Amino acid sequence: MPRAHNFSAGPATLPEVVLRQAQDEMLDWHGVGASIVELSHRGPEFMAVAAEAEADLRTLMSIPDDYAVLFLQGGATLQQALIALNFADPGQGADYIVTGHWGKTAAKQVKPYVAVNVAANGEDGGFRSIPSRDTWRLDNKAAYVHITANETIHGVEFRPCNGVDTPDVGDVPLFADFSSSIASEPLDVSRYGLIYGGAQKNLGPVGVSVVIVRRDLLERVGQPRADIFNYASHVKGESMLNTPPTWNWYLAGLVFKWMLAEGGVEEFARRSARKSSLLYSVIDGSGGFYRNEVDAAARSRMNIPFFLKDETLDKPFLQQAQEARLISLKGHRALGGMRASIYNAMPVEGVQALADFMQDFQRRHG
Ligand SMILES: *Cc1c(COP(=O)(O)O)cnc(C)c1O
Repeated sequence: MPRAHNFSAGPATLPEVVLRQAQDEMLDWHGVGASIVELSHRGPEFMAVAAEAEADLRTLMSIPDDYAVLFLQGGATLQQALIALNFADPGQGADYIVTGHWGKTAAKQVKPYVAVNVAANGEDGGFRSIPSRDTWRLDNKAAYVHITANETIHGVEFRPCNGVDTPDVGDVPLFADFSSSIASEPLDVSRYGLIYGGAQKNLGPVGVSVVIVRRDLLERVGQPRADIFNYASHVKGESMLNTPPTWNWYLAGLVFKWMLAEGGVEEFARRSARKSSLLYSVIDGSGGFYRNEVDAAARSRMNIPFFLKDETLDKPFLQQAQEARLISLKGHRALGGMRASIYNAMPVEGVQALADFMQDFQRRHG
């Protein structure tokens, strides 16, 4: 039985060749006689895996040398809390641009530590657009400005290539949650103070997060915190203050190599443009049978929420999609409807199969 096309929002589909390689290496990694997950994180084998993963990610994302790269546990959610502890002094505020569920969560997380200034909020508009830059009420004394590059649930994305640019926020460092769009297109990392993301959307398996941080920011005092919550300590300890998630780190490393071999972020940007425009054109061309309500200029290339005109068709849609081996299309409970997540590892053929299915379903039920 061939594998299904899996549109899960995260944990999400991984490249089949990566899974096969991991399978091949599972019992005996490179002739060592043990799996990589059975070896010490401080041994030469895993140290090499870890160093290569970092080097490959640096190449893939063109990360400048004055940025540190961390591989940590706790998911994006933990990083959301840690950024305040590390970079905001007691009493200092932080600016949040809230463009969906995850931006809202990020702002809520740091309330015990900083005075949160929601400088712009798309909630009144149902999170269907990015509030235009000239409406943001930024505070030039803020510790940082936080954005969510791609809102995984609402399907709203900052578009660095066209439309909304990486926002200019002056001298205050820009921090961004890139969980669901990291390494999906060329990015000028130097425009950001800090970039973070859980791996389970676009980079690999759940259980490891990537943090890319400008080194000079690590000199900030921040707030009282244990070593394990301290990014500077993690940098010094090379992400090994305690036992790191070696399996997840290894698997993410295989995904980085796969992305580089496929042509890097330029190639994935081309594929994402093709994949997302294929689905949006089916939705927009359906005469209202399907609809996506996000502003065209802020539509995500990664997560495409859509709704059927007739909700009673939701169940048959999901049922028949599953029979056609198109799985995990149910929308997030906060929105309902459907959602197709089409990260780097989703092949164009998978999206074509979904587009064909949607048109066929409409013919039969429209
Ligand atoms: C999934 C997601 C999160 C939460 O990630 P965890 O790894 O579960 O903590 C945060 N932000 C965005 C944009 C996400 O897509």
